[in-house]
Amino acid sequence: MELYKTNQLKIYNSLSKTKEDFKPIVEGNVGMYVCGPTVYSNVHLGNVRTFMSFDLVFRYLKHLGYKVRYVRNITDAGHLENDADEGEDRIAKKARLEQIEPMEIVQRYTVDFHQTLQTINNLPPSIEPTATGHIVEQIEIIKDILEKGLAYEINGSVYFDVLKYNETEHYGILSGRNIEDSIHNTRELDGQSEKKNPQDFALWKKADERHIMRWPSPWGVGFPGWHLECTAMSTKYLGETFDIHGGGLDLKFPHHECEIAQSKVKNNVKPVNYWMHANMLILNGQKMAKSTGNYILPNEIFSGENTILSKAFTPSATRFFMLQAHYRSVLDFTGAGLEASERGFIKMMEAFNKLDSVATSQTSSLNISDWKQKCYDSLNDDFNSPILIANLFEAAKYVNLLVDKKETITQLDLNEFKTTIHSFVYDVLGLQNDLQSDSSEKIAGVVEMLIKMRNKARDNKNWALSDEIRDELASLGIQLKDGKDGTTFSVN
Ligand code: AMP
Ligand code: ZN
Repeated sequence: MELYKTNQLKIYNSLSKTKEDFKPIVEGNVGMYVCGPTVYSNVHLGNVRTFMSFDLVFRYLKHLGYKVRYVRNITDAGHLENDADEGEDRIAKKARLEQIEPMEIVQRYTVDFHQTLQTINNLPPSIEPTATGHIVEQIEIIKDILEKGLAYEINGSVYFDVLKYNETEHYGILSGRNIEDSIHNTRELDGQSEKKNPQDFALWKKADERHIMRWPSPWGVGFPGWHLECTAMSTKYLGETFDIHGGGLDLKFPHHECEIAQSKVKNNVKPVNYWMHANMLILNGQKMAKSTGNYILPNEIFSGENTILSKAFTPSATRFFMLQAHYRSVLDFTGAGLEASERGFIKMMEAFNKLDSVATSQTSSLNISDWKQKCYDSLNDDFNSPILIANLFEAAKYVNLLVDKKETITQLDLNEFKTTIHSFVYDVLGLQNDLQSDSSEKIAGVVEMLIKMRNKARDNKNWALSDEIRDELASLGIQLKDGKDGTTFSVN
């Protein structure tokens, strides 16, 4: 029987602002859409945190036995520099500055995005559509909204009429803003905005001569507004109403509010049942962001090449650090915090690596079923990964006591205990045993270096030193074996 039948998952819905029982539209199936990156620069750790939050959601839903269609887009056009529909397209701007094709920018940073997420062990989504691959769908939605009188065309651009929409619907239903506060932070670039009201947002923008990314449309040559692509791609692949829509908290307004309005007009149904928002990663007291220069790149963490870090950290230690915070809490990034998490992670994994050497008894001193249920309860409660990790620490402590023969476990319980730990650590949290391989690689490097030094000593007929190196290594459990192809070693 699928695990979801006995585990009632609760999800905090940003729309109702409460934790709700999760009930998918079609039993056993989940449709989930998450706003993807704008591929004009390397993803920073803040972006990675949001995608990791939804990777946990994806992994746990799959673990529960749901068939999940996870759609995450690539924004490769149409994302203007600010939410006021003003300024330049970020990708086109970067292409102009670097004097290369916009698609070259898109390609470079899409590859970086995939590599980074793979390194940190996020699963790929089921479908990864691009905005530029869905221009036709976007134009069709604009035509529909225009026909229904909820948008207007001015000088080759089309804007959504927020005030008119708000006469019959509630613009602000998600963000809780009232219409007066919903002004799109307009910065008038050329004196007069052409919008009827400052709340209105662009569905289509006319491209001026400098704009390289452009498509023909019934309103002239231009490009789609940023909010539209997600409406087009989510409904195309998941239906007019789907289960879960996720993104970073900073996308709640205006992006997701606009998505709701567009979809509502187009399909006349509520587009999403559960809205989920992941909270921000903070650095130096401020949101980590590319635009302000206040960011750290994942690769800087894996290489240790950043002044705020004392050393390098493995992808799993970095992942563990982020999963120790609940996805709806703000997380402050500090080198000390990362070090503390790494210590905890090493301790936990070292304990779990000893599971195979645990001897079994007639009775168990820990109720394994209760402990297992606590693990499920934590994630069933809106994916509470820090509580799950606390339960895993309890398990690690128990393993150490089992090894010291201060606690007991039956063979049956040990089997269940191991399977549960394996599922939660590797499958659900997506952690890897990369600490061990990292340190064993280092040990191998040091031993190879000592073998070279020993060879030099032997060339110089310094037998005393050569023997000393061999004996010292042997006392540490590292055996050297001299063969005709050179010296090899084994670790006991
Ligand atoms: P962008 O490429 O700017 O559209 O961002 C991609 C994703 O990263 C979005 O879901 C953002 O909400 C999210 N994001 C951006 N900055 C941060 C941050 N400092 N912490 C967590 N998520 C972030
Ligand atoms: Zn989106």
